[in-house]
Amino acid sequence: MQVRQERCKGCTESVHVSPEKLERLIEIASRGRETVPDENYEVRLKQCSECPGLQYGTTCRYCGCLVAVRAKLQDSDCPFPLAPRWN
Ligand code: SF4
Repeated sequence: MQVRQERCKGCTESVHVSPEKLERLIEIASRGRETVPDENYEVRLKQCSECPGLQYGTTCRYCGCLVAVRAKLQDSDCPFPLAPRWN
């Protein structure tokens, strides 16, 4: 079976990230930085999952971040215009 790869218009990388790669990216981004407790992380991810700014199920349209990585970091905030959906 051939899997169709969506491509971001602005780059050549696939917009899809495997769960393994996502875990690795979270681990790398979290090095030496405070992370949020799991319950806060889940609340943030739920807000992202219901947000019109979420693209491809992974990426915030306002900052270009992978939300699973951004939401994990204590000092992150939500860049939703005028009214952040989490902080
Ligand atoms: S604007 Fe905020 S809630 Fe929406 S996808 Fe981006 S980080 Fe998540």
